[in-house]
Amino acid sequence: MSNAAWWERALAALPGGVNSPVRAFRSVPGDPLFFRSARGARFTDEDGREYLDYCQSWGPLILGHADPDVQAAIFEAVPEGASFGAPSRREVLLAEAFLSRLPWCDRVRFVSSGTEAVMSAVRLARGFTGRDLIVKFEGCYHGHVDSLLVDAGSGLATFGTPSSGGVPADVTRHTAVLPLADEERLRAFFAAHGDAVAALIIEPVPANAGLLLQTPAFLRTCRELTQRHGALLIFDEVISGFRVAAGGAAELYGIEPDLGTYGKIIGGGMPVGAYAGRRDIMEKVSPLGPVYQAGTLSGNPVAMAAGLATLAKIGRPGFYAELERKGARLEAGLREAAAAAGAVASVVRQGSLFWAVFQAEAPVSFAAVDGARMPTYGRLHRALIERGVYLAPSGWEVGFVSAAHSDADIDTTVAAAREALAVAVVG
Ligand SMILES: *Cc1c(COP(=O)(O)O)cnc(C)c1O
Repeated sequence: MSNAAWWERALAALPGGVNSPVRAFRSVPGDPLFFRSARGARFTDEDGREYLDYCQSWGPLILGHADPDVQAAIFEAVPEGASFGAPSRREVLLAEAFLSRLPWCDRVRFVSSGTEAVMSAVRLARGFTGRDLIVKFEGCYHGHVDSLLVDAGSGLATFGTPSSGGVPADVTRHTAVLPLADEERLRAFFAAHGDAVAALIIEPVPANAGLLLQTPAFLRTCRELTQRHGALLIFDEVISGFRVAAGGAAELYGIEPDLGTYGKIIGGGMPVGAYAGRRDIMEKVSPLGPVYQAGTLSGNPVAMAAGLATLAKIGRPGFYAELERKGARLEAGLREAAAAAGAVASVVRQGSLFWAVFQAEAPVSFAAVDGARMPTYGRLHRALIERGVYLAPSGWEVGFVSAAHSDADIDTTVAAAREALAVAVVG
């Protein structure tokens, strides 16, 4: 059955045809593709067409699709049982592997998604501090947690809604939103309200409304102000964890938060999230402490196996240097292609994360992203699909280079981008 036929059936069975909104291609031309199989840097749709993929399941697949070692680990775990609902060895092994890469963390709790990790970390921060107020940044996405669905980035920006229906104002009353990259506003806020803040949460590498890279100085200010006011600093590393360095953004910038939230890569393509931090904080979680958090499938053995195989492989010497090299190759190629097409564009990159934006200057705050330029991204997206390259279906989303992308794949992508950009900028 073709992509088109599956899409028709999907529309009749799933709201908007999808199980997660940006997949519906609402902000790029054309209909979604249906994928039936994948390997490495590529996946194949139901029409039998193959694409070089830079979405990589939105970040988990740092090793590429269907990595043979991750698959072998899953195949080994499945026959032993898909879920025990009782302690099992792989939870301990993954926790040990996790903690060995994050020396500032003493304890980790596994959950089943990034959303759950953030929701739990926020509850824990409130339980630990005895305060209610959470501070977040405009354009940072922290999953679809009620209290954090305020000015929350890509999926929401795509639909032009600042927040979400179904979230009581009473719930977001305890959430304050500040602009990224504005140290003055941040200092003024803490001077006025710092002693009421339970936690400041930030994506240290904001990657859900484009790639809004912050200066290390700004992140250090987040650390200093929270410390001074007895508030916790939560790094939401669901994308950046194990991506920008083995120890995530905390390692990259040399800043230790109080709590970190993880997901995506830690599950190797299976549903896993995690939150972690200092022992005195983490011991407030049930059963040791009063902050309740539980999960029927938490620490699922098959998911733990996929995470373990992924961490083992990305722990090999030179892994991140090689990803950086590939990212730099793609960045240079895309810049050159944009210049050749006469496009007004910036390519922003941090390691294997990249973002192409049709603005002369790379924005570093949500307000600086020009939504009026997104149709150009839509045309680029379509033109690249026609040339066998798949980007995330929204200009607010970042791209992911995996270890499975070869230099030849990147050069093929750049050649396709040269043609596609020429089409996109003409309009
Ligand atoms: C993806 C993401 C989440 C949510 O994770 P899910 O597994 O989709 O629930 C939270 N925070 C950040 C920074 C993310 O990128």
